[in-house]
Amino acid sequence: MTRRPLIERYRDRLPVGPATPVVSLLEGSTPLVPLKGPPEAGRRGIRLFAKYEGMNPTASFKDRGMTLAVSKAKEAGAQAVAAASTGNTSASAAAYAARAGLAAIVVLPAGYVALGKLAQTLVHGARVIQVEGNFDAALAIVRELTERYPVALVNSINPYRIEGQKTIAFEVVEDLGEAPEFHALPVGNAGNITAHWKGYRELAEAGAIERLPRMLGFQAEGAAPIVRGAPVERPETVATAIRIGNPASWRGALRARDESGGAIEAVSDREILEAWRYLASQEGLFVEPASAASLAGVRRWLREGRIPEGSRVVLTLTGHGLKDPGTAEREVRLSPPVPARLEAVAAAAGLV
Ligand SMILES: *Cc1c(COP(=O)(O)O)cnc(C)c1O
Repeated sequence: MTRRPLIERYRDRLPVGPATPVVSLLEGSTPLVPLKGPPEAGRRGIRLFAKYEGMNPTASFKDRGMTLAVSKAKEAGAQAVAAASTGNTSASAAAYAARAGLAAIVVLPAGYVALGKLAQTLVHGARVIQVEGNFDAALAIVRELTERYPVALVNSINPYRIEGQKTIAFEVVEDLGEAPEFHALPVGNAGNITAHWKGYRELAEAGAIERLPRMLGFQAEGAAPIVRGAPVERPETVATAIRIGNPASWRGALRARDESGGAIEAVSDREILEAWRYLASQEGLFVEPASAASLAGVRRWLREGRIPEGSRVVLTLTGHGLKDPGTAEREVRLSPPVPARLEAVAAAAGLV
C-alpha cells in the first residue's frame, strides 16, 4: 500500500492551505492491532485493539503533530524550530526540521542530558543547548528565542500539534467503521487526550460517527497532577514520557474526561511495567513504559467489571519500546554463558 503524507490524507480537516509546504516523513497510517487478550477481556466478549504509534517515522505519535507544526513553521518563514524537551518531541522536531531544511534548537537544563531519545535528536543534527537552570528556565528561554528570532516554538503548546494528533481518531474510525466504546491512553502534558477527543468530536459533528467513545486517561501515580487536582513539584515514574507535573493541556484533558463520561486515573509503576511486559511477551508489541499505562489502567477496569460486555476498547500505544532501552536492560536478565555444546544449549533453552 502506498503511504501518503498525513497532511494530504486529511487536508480538508487540517489548517493548511494550497501554499503550505508539506513537510512529511509519511507519518500516521499506523496499524490497529487486535489483541489476543488479556484473558479477563475475552471471557466477556470485550475486544481490545492497539493503535501502535511506535510505527511512526521517529517511533512515537509526536510525528503526527510535528508534520503540521513544522510545515506551518516553514510556511511562516521560520528559519528554525525550537523545543525544550529531552524526549520524543525533540527527536521528532529534529527529524522534521532536517527534512524541511530548517535548524532544530533544543534547550535543556544542564545535567538532565541522558538517554536514547537525545541521541536520536543529536544524530538528526539538532543544536542541543544545555543551560544552567531548571526546565522552566529552559522553556522560558525557548519562548523568548521565538519572540526575538525567526524561530517557531514546537513545544506542546503549539496548537498545530493537537490538530495533527487528532488524526489518530480519524484512523481508528476508518479501521473500525465506527468509534470504539472506550479509548484509553497515557496522559502527560495531556495534548494527546485533548487531540483524540477533538478528532472524535469533529467526526461526530460531521455525522461520520453516531456516538462518541468514553475517554480513559492514565497518569503514573508519581506524576498524577490531574488525578490529584494540583501540580506535582517533583514528578517521578519509570514512564518518563509522562513524567509531567503541570500539564500544558490540563483543561483539554478535563473536557475530554467530562464530555465523554470517561475518567482520568493513576496507575502504579508496577502496574505499568506488568502491562509493558505483557504487551511484549504475550502480544508481541514492544512499547515505551508510558504507552503501557493505557493497558495497565484498562486491566484494572476489566478486573473491576467496569467495562460492559461486548465493548471495543482501543489503546493508544504511544511510542516504541526501543526508545527506552534503559528500562528494558533493568527489567530483564541475560543468563551467563554455557559451553558451546548442543546438550548445554538445549538444556539452557528449556528443550530438555
Ligand atoms: C509525549 C508522550 C506521551 C504523553 O503525551 P501527552 O500529549 O504529553 O499527554 C506518552 N507517551 C509517549 C511515548 C510520548 O512520547
